[in-house]
Amino acid sequence: MKVFKYLADWYQAKRQRYIERMKQQGKCPICKGYGYETIANAYVGHSIECHSCKGTGLYSEWENSN
Ligand SMILES: [Zn+2]
Repeated sequence: MKVFKYLADWYQAKRQRYIERMKQQGKCPICKGYGYETIANAYVGHSIECHSCKGTGLYSEWENSN
């Protein structure tokens, strides 16, 4: 299925660019540097610490957890 591969490649490239941008800004790509999970926040109604960066919002913490 060429279409699926195309979409997967496109998604990967987009994700890669996004991560690269977050790296330049020193921000965790998961929470965009906020330190908490915004999706969970919307559901639960209060802030939940981002697992990936341990609530620091730092790219370096995210990188360490990968
Ligand atoms: Zn984070």
